[in-house]
Amino acid sequence: MHNFDQLNLSSDSLKILKGLKFENPTPIQEKVIPVALQGNDVMGTAQTGSGKTLSYILPIVEKLRKNVNDKFLILAPTRELSEQVFSVAKIFLGHGKPFKAINLIGGKGIFSQINQLKKNPQIIIGTPGRINDLLERKSFSLSKCSIVVLDEMDRMLDMGFGYQVDKIMKQVNKNRQMIMLSATIPAQIRKVSSKYLKNPVNISIENNDVIETNIKQKVIETIPNEKVNELINQIDQRKGSILIFAKTKIGVDKLVKKLKANSVKASALHGGMRQNKRSKIMQNFRDERFRILVATDIASRGLDVPHIEHIINYDMPQAPEDFIHRIGRTARAGSVGEAVSFLTQKDTRIWKSIERLLNKEEFKQNKGNPNYENKPKFKHKRRGRSRNKKKVGGRN
Ligand code: AMP
Repeated sequence: MHNFDQLNLSSDSLKILKGLKFENPTPIQEKVIPVALQGNDVMGTAQTGSGKTLSYILPIVEKLRKNVNDKFLILAPTRELSEQVFSVAKIFLGHGKPFKAINLIGGKGIFSQINQLKKNPQIIIGTPGRINDLLERKSFSLSKCSIVVLDEMDRMLDMGFGYQVDKIMKQVNKNRQMIMLSATIPAQIRKVSSKYLKNPVNISIENNDVIETNIKQKVIETIPNEKVNELINQIDQRKGSILIFAKTKIGVDKLVKKLKANSVKASALHGGMRQNKRSKIMQNFRDERFRILVATDIASRGLDVPHIEHIINYDMPQAPEDFIHRIGRTARAGSVGEAVSFLTQKDTRIWKSIERLLNKEEFKQNKGNPNYENKPKFKHKRRGRSRNKKKVGGRN
């Protein structure tokens, strides 16, 4: 494997990487950085946790160092992901340099963003809705944009941002370079790719961990009325930070209340909360000021909080892919983690789809490995039908 010294990066970037103790590029960085530095469009298949953020931040920063008047746009599907990308960009811009990044997300004061835009930040990061709003107000222009990054494009389409992204792209000059990243490449992504990208270099990291082998999986079969008790039981058995997923905003709030009523301190995170509150909660969770966060799937993608040790799927997700994203919030960057899933009778169908997906991904990862046996590993067995038998099965 290369080390960062072999990637043609500036001494400033190498110094910052060294300070972060990042010695070797991750596979996606190793492949994307040289191609992007040469000015090619990139269509990359990358999961969160693969180091994808730096794979585009580093080429952007290198280009900016050469031409301080260049502009860059990074679009992310959620406000949380946008904030995370912004914080990485700030680290690599360095202190006291004439480079600025701005984070344009909804829920934050638009007038303060307009004022900050007057200072001409070169790197514009944000979510499609707010960026469009500011473009419509002519608060900034994308006519001299050098690189556009569409991060987690599949998620942006899932969230219905296709139209907004299209509107933004119409304002970007034609000779820009594009980097599009997506966890999956469904037909819709191919269509968008052929629309925005010119002769892209396709980069896919085959062995890219969708299921980290260092995530222990556990399944608990339960009934709706027992879920809260079982959750408290699971929390009591665990040390370290826990991220709990519930299905709806109301469900998250109710669950936090129930936990509090049982003297378990927890905070909520969902899209119905004011942005300032969302940011504050995320910051406090990152800073380990509290250890239990209950969230909707807004937290299932992209979030990188290295100290999350446990994921609890209190409610199962709607789509099997979300399960993989949820459990990927633990065992970050090589650490270990545990994922617990509560299954009730009505989850049978989604669990079957999850099993199919997990086995498929595992098979893909082990292709060519002579010691690998392709047998279902995530089977959960219904042992007995008694309502009192709430905790059965599971694997560790
Ligand atoms: P990302 O997929 O961009 O969210 O990155 C996942 C995690 O990997 C983050 O905590 C990064 O700080 C970390 N990371 C990214 N690149 C490297 C690297 N080359 N070496 C070690 N850690 C890294």
